[in-house]
Amino acid sequence: MAEEKAIWLDGELVPWAEANIHVTSYGLYFGIGFFEAIRTFDTPDGPAFFRLDDHLRRLADSAHTYLAKLPYSRSDITAACKKTVKANGLTECLVRPIVFLGDGDHPLAAKWRTTVIAMSRGPYVSLPDEGGVHTKISSFHRMSANSFPPAAKATGQYLNAYLAQSDALGSGYDDALLLNEHGHVVDGWVHNVFVVRDGVVRTPPVSSGALPGITRDTVLTLAREQGLTCAEENLVRTDLYNADEVFLTGTSAGLVPVISVDRRTIGDGKPGEVTRTLADMFGDIVHGRVDLHPEWREPVG
Ligand code: PMP
Repeated sequence: MAEEKAIWLDGELVPWAEANIHVTSYGLYFGIGFFEAIRTFDTPDGPAFFRLDDHLRRLADSAHTYLAKLPYSRSDITAACKKTVKANGLTECLVRPIVFLGDGDHPLAAKWRTTVIAMSRGPYVSLPDEGGVHTKISSFHRMSANSFPPAAKATGQYLNAYLAQSDALGSGYDDALLLNEHGHVVDGWVHNVFVVRDGVVRTPPVSSGALPGITRDTVLTLAREQGLTCAEENLVRTDLYNADEVFLTGTSAGLVPVISVDRRTIGDGKPGEVTRTLADMFGDIVHGRVDLHPEWREPVG
């Protein structure tokens, strides 16, 4: 982590090595917190966040769901994100605002703390040579809405993703897909999932337990603007097995083609045309190479 220099913690920038918290923090041992992962991209007008405000709105929604009052306003966190990226001299990076519970005598009386970390690390998914990933539907289900709110991006909830992904990796696959308790396919471990058949693009609805992904929303918007029919509806395993194309979306990796699901080859085993077209458009937009959706790019300043 040579080039990272500073982290924003509770209102000020502190040197990277000194951004420490006490091990008794409830954010650590109960995993109580909310976070976002936001990317910045190099554009002709300088580095820009992709949909910063939408990410910070989701952070506020996650906190609201858990009755947590954010210690800083959305505009304070916006400013903190910009300050942190600039202080680290980064152009293309991953920015993580995290609100977590500090220490104290009782978790319901502890203070919320806030940090913003900017890192130059790449995505969790590195595309194999075949240009897409092999996926496995995990035997671990995505958390049910009456146990944990799946629409919230809460730190402890990622234990569910961890179980599914370690299961997939241990069985020789690249990525896990998760069902809900009704047997509907809802999400990848850190991705949303899309299928394409006969030119129709479908993704599970948020009400099924999918995270309301910012990349998911971006892809739905772009696909509709391209004149493609899109639907948010429940999907079952065979919708994936028999799709012409399947792809994953997420901040960390953008659009990721899926070339097999449970050892069933998808299409001809190569990234499909709709996936490639949308991935190219996505790349052009985040890098500001086209004029489309300038409102999604927020200059780092
Ligand atoms: N589903 C889950 C479970 C995730 O953790 C993520 C990553 N935030 C996504 C979907 C993709 O969401 P986004 O496009 O906002 O990164």
